[in-house]
Amino acid sequence: MSFFDTSLEFLKGVGPQRAALLQKELKLFTFGDLIQHYPFRYEDRTRFYSISEVNESVPFVQIKGKITDIELIGDKHKRRLVAYFADEGGEIELVWFQGINWVTQKIKPNIEYVVFGKPSRYGSKLSMAHPEIDLITEKSEKGGYLQPVYPLSEKLRTRYIDNKFLVKLQQDVLKGAISHIRETLPTSLLQQLKLIGKKEAIINIHFPKNHDWLTSALRRLKFEELFFIQLRLIKMKLVRQGKFKGIVFNDTAILTNFYKEHLPFDLTEAQKKVVREIYTDMKSGKQMNRLLQGDVGSGKTIVGFISILLAIGGDTQAALMAPTEILAQQHYTNLKKYADKMGISIALLTGSVKKSARKPIHEQLANGTLKILIGTHALLEEEVKFNQLGLAIIDEQHRFGVAQRSKLWQKNNHLYPHVLVMTATPIPRTLAMTLYGDLEISVIDELPKGRKPIKTTHRFDSHRLQVNAFIKSQIETGRQVYIVYPLIEESEKLDLKHLMDGYESIARAFPEVPISILHGQMKPEAKDFEMARFAKGETKIMVATTVIEVGVDVPNASVMIIESAQRFGLSQLHQLRGRVGRGAEQSYCILMTDHKLSAESKTRIETMVRTNNGFEIAETDLKLRGPGDLMGTQQSGALDLLIADLGKDGELLKQARESANTILEKDPLLELPENIHILHQVESMKKTAVNWSRIS
Ligand code: ADP
Ligand code: MG
Repeated sequence: MSFFDTSLEFLKGVGPQRAALLQKELKLFTFGDLIQHYPFRYEDRTRFYSISEVNESVPFVQIKGKITDIELIGDKHKRRLVAYFADEGGEIELVWFQGINWVTQKIKPNIEYVVFGKPSRYGSKLSMAHPEIDLITEKSEKGGYLQPVYPLSEKLRTRYIDNKFLVKLQQDVLKGAISHIRETLPTSLLQQLKLIGKKEAIINIHFPKNHDWLTSALRRLKFEELFFIQLRLIKMKLVRQGKFKGIVFNDTAILTNFYKEHLPFDLTEAQKKVVREIYTDMKSGKQMNRLLQGDVGSGKTIVGFISILLAIGGDTQAALMAPTEILAQQHYTNLKKYADKMGISIALLTGSVKKSARKPIHEQLANGTLKILIGTHALLEEEVKFNQLGLAIIDEQHRFGVAQRSKLWQKNNHLYPHVLVMTATPIPRTLAMTLYGDLEISVIDELPKGRKPIKTTHRFDSHRLQVNAFIKSQIETGRQVYIVYPLIEESEKLDLKHLMDGYESIARAFPEVPISILHGQMKPEAKDFEMARFAKGETKIMVATTVIEVGVDVPNASVMIIESAQRFGLSQLHQLRGRVGRGAEQSYCILMTDHKLSAESKTRIETMVRTNNGFEIAETDLKLRGPGDLMGTQQSGALDLLIADLGKDGELLKQARESANTILEKDPLLELPENIHILHQVESMKKTAVNWSRIS
């Protein structure tokens, strides 16, 4: 057993009871766990302040001085202990409201102390509440260090496991650990990227010599964490590419014919670029696994169709899977127009397709006469057997899990089909690299020409009459309107009430207008029915919860009102806004809020008003909320990072990915002597697979 696997119970000063507490409260089991329990901040003990420099706007400071007098002020319940603390330059009051007896015994006048705390001001007097106070020791006399502050729990504090205690444990464990810490990165890489060694990094993350060392330690450890994640993802990709041959396709008459005769518009440069990327993959002989990201309305469908033609031209079949019936139906209607003109057979398969209608679909699929199959997860059912599936497209990735993705692959027994995943949820590059690091990534970062950008405004609830007047005028010119209410997670009942109240007041404000309503507690058929009524223009206003979020296309709907907009995340607001702006008319998005807005809500609303760019919005969202909360990324273990932060460490992540790529390209099996450190680390991480198994 290695040093790092030793149970904490055996660390000096811990013992079975404290070990149990550390396990329960902080999930620390072994010496290794403790060492990886990094400080979350540091108190600056690098210098002493003189009292004359101190004011209430400086953060935590440490001061050297003497107590000149001690006083107990106030009666029983409002008692406080005040010690007057002075250096050459001035005086500050140290104040305690609790633990007075204990402090009284501890502090004495006319002895030199170091105090540490947050200064504040009462009237003309400076004070510091509940400071740390210590006798001057050799170490504190010298100053010049950063004091680590560790994550702790209340429970631990009540059992006297406080920061001081943890600092002591870390000191002890590190003393023993030093000779066991092994380098995990090649020397050449350390030199090239100016990274410090592992040992120095571990010491300095806990007990930094100064700010520069801390910065270096953080950079080194973050890089290492990101590097090994990327290494693993890229390895997975290489393995798959090596193992899974792809069907080789070539340009065919079908494709040329489509470009010449049926292409309804010029492709944007971004679309052309992505089509080229897909072609290259599908001609390469390796199985394609590509993620296509593009904002709502950027024209992913046509790119999908062109890829389908490539597959059909090679005498195989293609499937397109969407997360809902409505979306599948929409894709079917759109693509059928082209397919019919070109004489290509196409069918729709969803849960609501009757048994009698399924049979011919199954048969034609199996004998290869049916070329394109569009549908929902009904495509994944056992009976759905292709003659030869050449390309599988999955729209709106986040609704499908990785497991489902792979089920679709396995529809062929000899060769896996090429896979194209399309998503309208823009994912910042850093996240995409981590979540989909095993996929190739294509981006459509340009909207078709002539699209009118959606006008977004923020209105307070007090302007509801004006907003209603605007809705009315839009409906009079023939447009349709969405009004969306937030989901409040705590209570479905409350959500529904919220929505129903909204519905009633809208019905009162627009007595003549037919209104649809859509929410999560409706049966799927009822939802589809309401959605279809709205899509046909029979209703003019759609009152809904966020269920309308995913891809539904009603080009005539040009106004999106979002109620209690402060309750939505940025990405979600952007997704909702994407429901409008699909037709020729000018579209509008109005964000309704009350006057009380947190700073973060304000940033979200301002970002929405400022930009229509999904990637910019996703980046801001990532910075505001961190990756764990971003749409669709919730249960992804890939984001449980120990020290790196995908919102902030994008540059480092890029370097980590490049380095991992370069190394694996040259030495895919990590056999070269220069990569021995990496190999050891990879193997030891396999043994402690807890974190890693969750990633894939
Ligand atoms: P999304 O990326 O959201 O799936 P769609 O593929 O549904 O976008 O395209 C949105 C609309 O833009 C469709 O009506 C489509 O016909 C149209 N469109 C796509 N590409 C172009 C283009 N290059 N020029 C003009 N219109 C386009
Ligand atoms: Mg789409």
